[in-house]
Amino acid sequence: MPLLELKEVSKSYQRSASALHVLEGISFTVEEGEFVAIVGPSGCGKSTLLRIIHGLIPPSSGQVLYKGRQVDGINLECALVFQSFALLPWLTVKANVELGLEARGIEPAERERRAAIYIDKVGLDGFEEAYPRELSGGMKQRVGLARALALEPELLLMDEPFSALDQLTAINLREELLDMWQSPDLPVGTIILVTHSIEEAVEMADRVLVMGRNPGRIVGELTVDLARPRRKRTDLFNALTDQIFSMIEERG
Ligand code: ADP
Repeated sequence: MPLLELKEVSKSYQRSASALHVLEGISFTVEEGEFVAIVGPSGCGKSTLLRIIHGLIPPSSGQVLYKGRQVDGINLECALVFQSFALLPWLTVKANVELGLEARGIEPAERERRAAIYIDKVGLDGFEEAYPRELSGGMKQRVGLARALALEPELLLMDEPFSALDQLTAINLREELLDMWQSPDLPVGTIILVTHSIEEAVEMADRVLVMGRNPGRIVGELTVDLARPRRKRTDLFNALTDQIFSMIEERG
């Protein structure tokens, strides 16, 4: 049984008189342990799709199954990392990381234990009492990542997590994320990464789902069978990015 299965998921937003048809007939599965990227142009509905997978919003039609059971409300086995970091400016790093744990009713001692572990894992040891305004963009996203990891999610959902970062910071953080995903002592089993960057998708993922827009739908899928690390743009790497580009151009 797949970890996640979407069956004919569609989503419309009601707008005064008319409906905005954002997603149409989205079907795919994600296996446990996979790293899947969803790539597509801005506005094709990637964030909406991620929020539906998380159970933050319901689909208009179709089904989302997690381990074979229909998702009904927020799926507590998931955690979400946002492009905008989504930190509370009046809380310290430690308090921001503990926030999600508190919301899930986890006891203070366990919250502290997990915050300490994951702040350390993302390389922010010593910054526990700092406030977001004292941190660079890359450090803020490390806090966002620690907050998600502290929930010890089975499925990590990432919504353009590197888009707001400068190029060098993004390169480092991508590599660190891959190290964490490959490390047996970290709870990052399965990842779905949403991105508008074709290169990022091919660099990171085992499999890339390609979306087109108006309405947002899957227009192609591609397995990335290249050894990691993939930072060097080999001919095979470039051939895969070209293939995705063509899918979007021809069918998107
Ligand atoms: P992407 O992440 O691919 O950029 P989004 O999922 O953010 O796409 O948005 C897809 C479309 O849905 C856009 O046209 C956006 O304006 C619209 N949209 C997103 N959220 C809402 C909402 N809550 N109400 C109405 N329209 C929305």
